[in-house]
Amino acid sequence: MEQQQQKERKRLRLVLFPLPAQGHINPMLELATILHSKGFSITIIHINFNSPNPSNHPHFTFHSIPHGLPDHMLKPTTGSGTKDVISIITHLNITTVEPFRECLTSNALDDDEPVACLISDAMFHFTRAVADSLKLPRLVLRTTSATSFNVFPAFPLLLQKGYLPVQDSRLEEPVVEFPPLKVKDLPVIETQYPEKFYELISRVVSETKASSGIIWNTFEELEQSALDSIANQLSIPMFPIGPFHKYNLAYSSSSFLVEDQSSISWLNTQPPNSVIYVSFGSVAVLSETEFLEIAWGLANSNLPFLWVVRPRSIHGSEWLELLPNGFLESLRGRGHIVKWAPQQQVLAHLAVGAFWTHSGWNSTMESICEGVPMICKPSFIDQNVNSRYVSHVWKVGVKLENGILERGDIERMITKLMREKEGEEIRCRVSKLKDMAISCLKHGGTSYKYLDSLVNHIHSLAH
Ligand code: UDP
Repeated sequence: MEQQQQKERKRLRLVLFPLPAQGHINPMLELATILHSKGFSITIIHINFNSPNPSNHPHFTFHSIPHGLPDHMLKPTTGSGTKDVISIITHLNITTVEPFRECLTSNALDDDEPVACLISDAMFHFTRAVADSLKLPRLVLRTTSATSFNVFPAFPLLLQKGYLPVQDSRLEEPVVEFPPLKVKDLPVIETQYPEKFYELISRVVSETKASSGIIWNTFEELEQSALDSIANQLSIPMFPIGPFHKYNLAYSSSSFLVEDQSSISWLNTQPPNSVIYVSFGSVAVLSETEFLEIAWGLANSNLPFLWVVRPRSIHGSEWLELLPNGFLESLRGRGHIVKWAPQQQVLAHLAVGAFWTHSGWNSTMESICEGVPMICKPSFIDQNVNSRYVSHVWKVGVKLENGILERGDIERMITKLMREKEGEEIRCRVSKLKDMAISCLKHGGTSYKYLDSLVNHIHSLAH
């Protein structure tokens, strides 16, 4: 019946425009794979840094546009990392306007198949004006949790009430408008120019409100109240069709770094449910002290660990030079460190018993989908909110509350999760959530139905 409908409908093209960051490219390309399976042709317009590899996705058409950023913004410096994220996104919203418009008019739209709509990363707020000027309908993909996005429209109120900018003396205060969030959980980032950040968020919210709908990599059962609240405030259709990576489709990797397959062969040598997998995503950076506390916390836990240390993700160092001589050797095979792992495969491995994460949304969803309990150490923006929900609402993990990482705290958290009753209860809850995440993709499940309505919505936009 579905195939019949696909045949009868005119083939339409979709233009997708991801933000050039790992946590944004991955879900955008997964979404592209899902929509391609629904009979749409796919064009990806991408910026010429952190570009996806077209040869991994032979069914899609790719167009590259110049980023136009000054060199110093992109130069990899040791332990750089989070400091320029906001400036880069703010700049890209200016420098790519004309190249994006030109690409749409000269390449992407010039095709036998009519373009039904643009699907833009929500952080590219400028795409609203460009799409409007070309009379092209625009949907947005929001790659974070709905729960964290739900706080953004309230920024003016939070500023007025003095919660923002966040002050160190108020970190532990509850934000009564958003229980159970505390001031330290608000979705902000440490920056020299907080006004720039508030301005960016305000534009993202207003241009999202002006879109034809939001696509979410989440499922309704997990975030119903935030999804309802956003729908009420923005009055646009919502399509929570996640978890994206769990549709039964052949996805190709969109990793920028090489996925080290020794992660899997090493996991094959470990007992079931024994390993702590540690990764803080593609952007977060650590201080030298934090790095060493983590190393000793893991070593002292006496449990096996697989640790992703991205090159240049530790201040003042290229990779592992700061580890004491003979550190790994002294653990006699109990620890394995890689530069980048095939994370979804790692989390699905039977040997993995817990995930110590920075609580990025993709990582959080990937952990839930494999029923892996989490230890959360958030760095910024949505990660703060996600980690509070993981530990206090969904109760599928524990959160390192102390702002300063200490080996003793780390060891205690690991013990709590891996060896104590509370850990068992957490494991039981995350396993139930995993079942829920998988059922919602099945025939009649919530994400299954939302995907159907998204497909119909896109067809209706094309008329
Ligand atoms: N990831 C990976 N290998 C690694 C670390 C991360 O493939 O060693 C992937 C992970 O599966 C996720 C993405 O990178 O899909 C990170 O996204 P997330 O939203 O968790 O964090 P971000 O990098 O945006 O902070």
